[in-house]
Amino acid sequence: MGTAAERREELKAVWEQARTCTNCPQLASTRQTVVFGSGNADADLMFVGEAPGANEDRQGLPFVGQAGRLLDTLLEEIGLTRGDVFIANTLKCRPPGNRDPLPQEIDACQDYLFRQLELIEPRVVCTLGNFSTKLLRGDPSTGITRLHGREEVRRIGPRRVRLYPIYHPAAALYTPQMLDVLRSDFRKLPELLALDPPEQPEPEVEPEPVVEEPEIVLEVEREPEAAQLGLF
Ligand code: URA
Repeated sequence: MGTAAERREELKAVWEQARTCTNCPQLASTRQTVVFGSGNADADLMFVGEAPGANEDRQGLPFVGQAGRLLDTLLEEIGLTRGDVFIANTLKCRPPGNRDPLPQEIDACQDYLFRQLELIEPRVVCTLGNFSTKLLRGDPSTGITRLHGREEVRRIGPRRVRLYPIYHPAAALYTPQMLDVLRSDFRKLPELLALDPPEQPEPEVEPEPVVEEPEIVLEVEREPEAAQLGLF
């Protein structure tokens, strides 16, 4: 879809557009900043969380609170830093009081995420928790408890990626068993990154415009009798 530099410029243009977004009037009026995402715009690995919290809203960066610190630790344990990956959320604005994203907010915001995925071109997309998993799998009825730790190749927009759902780090903060599961799922990421990238679909070719042949109308002199019959 263009060079990394071109895709990065395009991503900046999407960010400019998102910065002043008012698709969700409530969120636009309560947010301090639009948290677009951060990291390497050409990353092989992209994380998608739920929505900014209070700290993220203040700083304009994703995952900068307690859940973010856990994410940093988990990244470090597999030899990665934030600069190696891109981190985004399903919603770019903080829901007041950290309530769950509403279905209409997810709908209104999803194009930004799809554009990010298209422009960053990650091979592996790691969804954190239920909201991003359900959105990117297009299946609202299967949750993270069933899906975590299982990679599947999925087409998202024009590209195929390895989608890898894991628990949200915030859910693991206070539950040691969940943290163990999250940690062991996280440790599979280097293996997934080492696999060949998924084969990409053939780019869709724009159909040639159909040029209508001008209709040739033959003017035939009608017999006066025939013309009269046509009156009925
Ligand atoms: N939780 C999220 O899902 N995203 C953030 O950016 C912070 C906490």
